[in-house]
Amino acid sequence: MKPNIKNIAVLTSGGDAPGMNAGIRAVIRTGIFHGRNMFGVQQGYRGLIENNIIPMNARSVSNILHMGGTILKTARCLEFKTDEGMETAYRNLQANDIDALVVIGGDGTFTGAKRFSEKFDVKVIGIPGTIDNDLYGSDFTLGYDTAINTVIEAIDKIRDTADSHDRLFFIEVMGRDSGCIALRSGIASGAEAILLPEKFTSVEDLISKLECGASTKKSSSIVIVAEGHKHGGAYEIAKQVEERFDHYDTKVTILGHLQRGGSPSSFDRILGSRLGFAAVNALLNGETRQMVGLRGNEVKLTSLDEALNTHTFKLEDDLLEMASVLSI
Ligand code: ADP
Repeated sequence: MKPNIKNIAVLTSGGDAPGMNAGIRAVIRTGIFHGRNMFGVQQGYRGLIENNIIPMNARSVSNILHMGGTILKTARCLEFKTDEGMETAYRNLQANDIDALVVIGGDGTFTGAKRFSEKFDVKVIGIPGTIDNDLYGSDFTLGYDTAINTVIEAIDKIRDTADSHDRLFFIEVMGRDSGCIALRSGIASGAEAILLPEKFTSVEDLISKLECGASTKKSSSIVIVAEGHKHGGAYEIAKQVEERFDHYDTKVTILGHLQRGGSPSSFDRILGSRLGFAAVNALLNGETRQMVGLRGNEVKLTSLDEALNTHTFKLEDDLLEMASVLSI
């Protein structure tokens, strides 16, 4: 039986990601198209607790597709993890007569949505929005493609100076538990080595790879280090390599938060639009506690339970092998 959903709210939570605005726009406009009243919650779950909930119309989301970040703002809200925080949030939803929520964020956001929905029977659908691409059930998450493009633009620039000075550069990219950004940006920028949290590479192996390049007269080397690599960050690895490998002048660059910003790529704008559209349609079809995701270029639903509890190795073996072969 289809639920009688009249009023739907959307929020963004956790780390911001380019493409979230495309998702917000699609949620608001799809709901309005179907005659629903639409609301935006500011600053994620904090806005639910503080009743920062605003009515939105089709014009509230004009001219935002190209903008990075999130017009609704985001926050990390510890209070939402408590029973009292959730109860206050629920009372505010009731006061605004809101029946359903679309949440855009990562695994923390989905954990909160799932708990909230189980406790109060609020209908929820999640849209995966995180540059880390670390959620099961979607081949890609919002923001990931843009982040890789940002990283390779930076690496291209670093390559110019690395080449001119015969330098060995260690570039640290985001990815505490996931090497997705490191692997793809490493392939796209021709990095000599890629150090990932999921795959142990010893300093000895790294050195022999670099020595091999030096023996065939490579004039520069770029090593991408995902921040979660077991040996520590780029500074630590650079220090260990420097102690044993003095052919190069060694430099370190931490790309940091610039990876989160910028105008979303066409891929992320289209992904946000598809997933926002699908999220509202799923709610109106009676779905709840599901994540909308892209699998094999089709939008598919995965239960929040499965998305949160399935831990698969997302790095493709063929890409790992190829990256190693092409960087000789
Ligand atoms: P992300 O969604 O990017 O993984 P966080 O892990 O910071 O980001 O989670 C975002 C927000 O989700 C948190 O600030 C908190 O409000 C909420 N959240 C995370 N874990 C829980 C939980 N176990 N119960 C309730 N809310 C949670």
